[in-house]
Amino acid sequence: MANITTTTAAAFIPEIWAQKALEVLRSNVVLAKLVTKDTDVATFQVGDVLHIPYPGTFTAQDKSANTAVTLQTPSGGADLSVTLNKHKEVSFLIEDPARAQANQDLMDRYINSAVPAIAEAIENDLFALYAGLSGSVGTSGTDITAATIRSARKALGTTLSRALRIARTETLRAHREATRASYQANSDLVDGWIWHSALGERTCAACWAMHGTFHTLDERLDDHPNGRCAMVPATRSWAELGRKYGLDFGDVEETPPKITLGVDLFERLPVETQIKILGPAKYAAWEDGKFALGDVVGRKRSREWGTHRYEKSLVELLGAEKAKGYTRLALMGAAKNAGQYSADDLIRVAGLGLRELTHGELERVARHVANAGFSSTEMMRVRTSIRGQVWDGKKLEIGDTIPTDVGHYLKHVVVNQEWPDGTTLEDYKRSLEEVILDQDSDVFVSRYNDAWQIGFVRGSRDWRGSNGGDFIFVEYKVQYGYLVTGYQPEDVIIQLTKKRESFRWIRNKRFH
Ligand SMILES: [Zn+2]
Repeated sequence: MANITTTTAAAFIPEIWAQKALEVLRSNVVLAKLVTKDTDVATFQVGDVLHIPYPGTFTAQDKSANTAVTLQTPSGGADLSVTLNKHKEVSFLIEDPARAQANQDLMDRYINSAVPAIAEAIENDLFALYAGLSGSVGTSGTDITAATIRSARKALGTTLSRALRIARTETLRAHREATRASYQANSDLVDGWIWHSALGERTCAACWAMHGTFHTLDERLDDHPNGRCAMVPATRSWAELGRKYGLDFGDVEETPPKITLGVDLFERLPVETQIKILGPAKYAAWEDGKFALGDVVGRKRSREWGTHRYEKSLVELLGAEKAKGYTRLALMGAAKNAGQYSADDLIRVAGLGLRELTHGELERVARHVANAGFSSTEMMRVRTSIRGQVWDGKKLEIGDTIPTDVGHYLKHVVVNQEWPDGTTLEDYKRSLEEVILDQDSDVFVSRYNDAWQIGFVRGSRDWRGSNGGDFIFVEYKVQYGYLVTGYQPEDVIIQLTKKRESFRWIRNKRFH
């Protein structure tokens, strides 16, 4: 007669059986409870090899009066791999599965007598393994020497450094409080713990900032909900241990874990990754030196999670106004260029009042603007002011098109006589360039008809014509990438104020 297999009886094997069986199993095992079990592993089956962080086993020694104790190191520590090579079974047949299910007593009775057999087998196997354990320091029954203690500490240290490595790589493990409790239990060896973050693109800036920071054993790792951070034990130095036990470990090399601070590691990330982690607006503010990475770590208390860390918002970091500025910069697509802003970006940064431009940056902006000049390809239409002037052998009529530099030259030099007689187009353009590049010029940024412009103002000096003014006024429009005007206004103050929004001096020596 064929037995009822799990396949045929699938529908009749309820979960409660397994739970009931495990309950009985747990209460029957003795040795299995004492060996290291790692429950935080993925599903496994017979034949798999588990690598388990295993601290080792101690043995209780007999102590008689007037004899020294025997120091010991745990046996079987270090890299322990366990091959799943056992599969215990106790089988019994139930002729009528339905009836068995219905009768609780019957089920209990069968399980109660079947499971102890498994428990016994597990215990026997564990006892068999125990005989193969090895690893000790010193000789039982002989006096302890400093060398014995040293090698005992060293052996323990090896286990700890392994634990460090495991903690570094296995950052997803969540048993933080249990871990901390074990550190506390070993506080003679473990001094505190070091915050260890996943350090990926998905790791928030706050966790990046916390990485590598030292915490005492009474501090909880309180990262935000769903955080993936872990604790790494900070072990006491040999010197400290030596002092504690009255021994000289001066010749033992100190090997503290080398954990680079997250704030330093973040600096070394590629720009694209930094932007991914911070977002463009926050990235630009950070790159502009508005805050240090460590500043993003906030701490708050919630009823649900208790105290926990979080990443501060840009408003919390910079205040509403500057936060808005950086958000605008990001919307313009310029924030991601922080650290290598183009001249046009710098004009926007200055215009938004995000920060002062450095001397070098302002010089770069000036060179860019001087270099751009008037567009030599854009054309402008002839208007009344220059109608009738001759250019290129042709008398200009309203509606004709001429290059922009020519249009401005004809109007301000030839017709208005703001420049001295005999000033050529080249002279005119050179005079504007001179004002732009002159460190004595005053510089301002403003929005004119909703577009960012940068203006340069300086005394007209030798360039003043019979109808000229005290100042030469040159302006560049970011949106065009060219100069939009260059002339000598009758009243410069009116020019500085009319139709302008967000007016801001970048360099101001004269207009207070
Ligand atoms: Zn985080």
